[in-house]
Amino acid sequence: MLPDFRIRQRDYLLGIASALTQELDLETVLRRILRASAELSGAPAALIALRQLPDLNGETIGPFRIQAHYNLNPNFVRQFNGVLSQTYGLTESDPLPLIMNELKLRLAAVVRHGHYDIKGTVGLPLISRGNFEGLLLLFGAYRAPLSYGPEIERMLQTFANQAAIAVTNARLYEQVAHEKMRLDAMLDGSADGILLMDAEHNIERWNRALAKLTQVHDSEAIGKTHEDLIFWKSREPGQDLLEAETSGWPAQMNTTLYVEGDLLRRDGSTIAVGVTYAPIFRNTRLVNIIANVRDITKFKEAERLKSSFISGISHELKTPVALIKGYAGTLQREDANWDRATINDGLAVIEEEADRLHTLVDNLLEASRLQAGGIELRYQDVDLKHLAGRTKRLFEPQTDKHEISIDFPEDFPLVRADEDRIVQVYTNLLSNAIKYSPDGGKVRISGKIEGNEALVSVSDQGPGIAPHELEKIFDRFYRAKSDLTVKAKGAGLGLYLTRAIVEAHRGYIWATSQLGVGTTFTFKLPIQ
Ligand code: ADP
Repeated sequence: MLPDFRIRQRDYLLGIASALTQELDLETVLRRILRASAELSGAPAALIALRQLPDLNGETIGPFRIQAHYNLNPNFVRQFNGVLSQTYGLTESDPLPLIMNELKLRLAAVVRHGHYDIKGTVGLPLISRGNFEGLLLLFGAYRAPLSYGPEIERMLQTFANQAAIAVTNARLYEQVAHEKMRLDAMLDGSADGILLMDAEHNIERWNRALAKLTQVHDSEAIGKTHEDLIFWKSREPGQDLLEAETSGWPAQMNTTLYVEGDLLRRDGSTIAVGVTYAPIFRNTRLVNIIANVRDITKFKEAERLKSSFISGISHELKTPVALIKGYAGTLQREDANWDRATINDGLAVIEEEADRLHTLVDNLLEASRLQAGGIELRYQDVDLKHLAGRTKRLFEPQTDKHEISIDFPEDFPLVRADEDRIVQVYTNLLSNAIKYSPDGGKVRISGKIEGNEALVSVSDQGPGIAPHELEKIFDRFYRAKSDLTVKAKGAGLGLYLTRAIVEAHRGYIWATSQLGVGTTFTFKLPIQ
């Protein structure tokens, strides 16, 4: 028979142990350990120092840190924490008695140095599953020294062992919660759509980017299957997920599956995406599939532009070359005796076409230079009004259908800009205004000042540009889809270069247009 007090002790211990191991919040666990250990031992003060878990790089930050304390002088806690957290004299693999001895020495030094009212200390290692988790230190004071026999000490060690398990659990839980938080942040912060499903394709995770791509909210997606939500309007040749699985995918751990095509969104529109499916195995069993859904609209658009550019540009290059060759051949014919006027006409065409080729090649080179790294500007004082007049005089002889007018206020200020580049902007805008209003009409170059900025507009009375194309026409190689564009020559580079030049000046350019009425291009430059 156990004596009464032993039974009470045992019940008490059991009670605490079960309360402790059920708690998952580390702070609460530590607080309860401190309280219970004080009750069990009668120690007036106590602390718990835990070994630091490896950080993300796998490095331990320091061997110990005080994690909770009770009834201790804050200065003592700070100083003792300082010496505890230093690694000197201690390594991961040191045997426990050595570590305990080293800590005892450090503690004694701190107490001596600070004249703290601490007398008699019991140090209990917190060991769980063979891991040295930390220390429970019970302190006595001069007027209340700690003293108990081996029995109590054994009981305290039993309690410490229980406490260590509770600490391990709470720390593991904390770690898992932290990992989950990081994973959530990663999923939600990802610019790509990500979905996680089980082997039967039931959706378990559906991140924010995917909700945006598909227009399906995660609350609707969870619990549905991949096939309920992922619909291909059209697909590049190859297998989709179901077809691939039918033919044995994933045979190996790290074989991914790539599917590309136009995905149907909730509102019926489509979006070009590339989906990479990666299997997740536990042992050899497929447990999850993770899909990464990337919006490849821009890439597709670039591909489309490239191919339309190549066909467009070869046409643009071939036409003048054919004309030059044709005229040169004709003029060279030995059997023909061309009069001077015919020869001059032929030479004029050759010169004009050579000029056109020259401009085209210049623009192409410039566009690729721009892509490689911006424009260098040579700033000087530029008279925008004067340049407008010069451009008007340059273009007037080229058309008899257009009436070009200039409208600038008298006192229009000089702006700091690169004159050659601004001439390029004027030339591009004016040549477009004429080229894209083939029936003629008024072309007006006007200027005004708004605050510290000079605004210049070039407007025409051509058939105009559809609203959805107003932004795109500034893209490289982009040409609006209209009969007008088909008839007019061009490579879709003029406005791209124009915008780059204006923006290099820290300016801004935009177009407004009304179909059937006309188009206005306006650029804005800082005066200084
Ligand atoms: P390009 O003239 O060589 O095609 P740009 O970059 O100068 O290239 O112009 C891009 C497109 O913008 C043109 O193909 C044309 O469709 C449209 N555009 C430009 N200026 C006008 C205008 N004034 N009126 C109507 N459409 C225009």
